[in-house]
Amino acid sequence: MRYSLRIASVLTVAGGIALFAMDSDQAILPASDIESARDPGRQIASTTLASDSAAESVRLSSVYKEVLTVGKGDTLMAMLVDTGIAPASADRAVRTMSRIYKPRRIKPGQDIVLSLKPDLRAKSVELMAMKISPNVERDILVTRTAKGFQAKAVDRPLTKVAMHASGKIDTSLYVAGVNAGLRQATLAKLIQTFSFDVDFQRDIRRGDAFDVMYEEYRDEDGAVVKSGDILVAEMTLSGKKSRLYRFETKDGFSDFYDAKGQSVRKALLRTPIDGARISSNYGMRRHPILGYNKMHKGLDFAARRGTPIFAAGNGFVEYAGRNGGYGKYVRIRHNSTFKTAYAHMHRYGKGIRKGRRVKQGQIIGYVGSTGRSTGPHLHYEVHKNGRQVNPRSIKLPSGRKLKGRELRTFKAHVAALEKQYVALTAQQLADRR
Ligand SMILES: [Zn+2]
Repeated sequence: MRYSLRIASVLTVAGGIALFAMDSDQAILPASDIESARDPGRQIASTTLASDSAAESVRLSSVYKEVLTVGKGDTLMAMLVDTGIAPASADRAVRTMSRIYKPRRIKPGQDIVLSLKPDLRAKSVELMAMKISPNVERDILVTRTAKGFQAKAVDRPLTKVAMHASGKIDTSLYVAGVNAGLRQATLAKLIQTFSFDVDFQRDIRRGDAFDVMYEEYRDEDGAVVKSGDILVAEMTLSGKKSRLYRFETKDGFSDFYDAKGQSVRKALLRTPIDGARISSNYGMRRHPILGYNKMHKGLDFAARRGTPIFAAGNGFVEYAGRNGGYGKYVRIRHNSTFKTAYAHMHRYGKGIRKGRRVKQGQIIGYVGSTGRSTGPHLHYEVHKNGRQVNPRSIKLPSGRKLKGRELRTFKAHVAALEKQYVALTAQQLADRR
């Protein structure tokens, strides 16, 4: 045990970053290193006087840490050799690792944490340990042992924690959410939760508010590494409060319901695109290209080329292809009443072909400017009983309503969530004092 603590202090001081999990019994560390670790003066010198030659020689004799970020086209082998590790040694380490994790799975942007020790005689560095984290829950560890290298996968236990955040909206829900400490992923879920009822480009007013209880995953150090689900979401718009609860029904589908057990999901999304502004409304307008007054039978959303377009609802692709002035065009049949159409696409979503089934929110294409168009935008139409209607004024059929036993289960779930909410907000208040 003492042994591992010594190693930790060497690595921390010399590398300047906390030690990653390394098995003390697997890491070979000569006596000289343990000695240098015992002498705090020498170690401090190595970090504060890096340019000093005496300090340099200290640094050269101890284990240090290096973090490599994988670039496009990089191979693990080449990266290790570039660090100064002898090719034979790098090859052995990579081969050992490939028994549990194939090096070709390493992606650009990923970090490779190395624990290195200079070998002054061979004028190279010795690889003591290597860590790759394929995801936030797993580490692949390769360590030097007396007999070569050893590889193992270590699962990092994550703890799920309930959190609470609230705030008043000054400019946008996005800004207010970020200020309240919400992660991007949680914020996106919050926006999605209300997207059936709220048009985030129009309906948000200064003084509106949000309140959310959500889950996050933390690692052993308490750092948030992953967003979880939203449990309770509330928005106050122009003084009107709407509080929703996440609930999983017996068939395994999770959705948000109001306190009465009515799902907020609607047959169609309000906007089939994220973060775009409406550049042209439904109705009569002077046609930008043709120059005369013409009925504009859809909504235009200005967005950058390549912005994903979502299926507004579940359904079947009825048409996917070039369609005159519409350019690259997709039409989805949702039910016997509603269809939606999407025009001027740059390209189609993966697998989007006639007859294909699509789910609400699935990417069906990307914003472009094909056909009769002045610039990248999405032209979006809603067809009701075969005729285009104003997407903003249609009354949409609502989702399921919980009944009987399922409603009773839901009510008990809501009571439990409210209890948790009270405890959590009380705790928060106490922490602030
Ligand atoms: Zn249009």
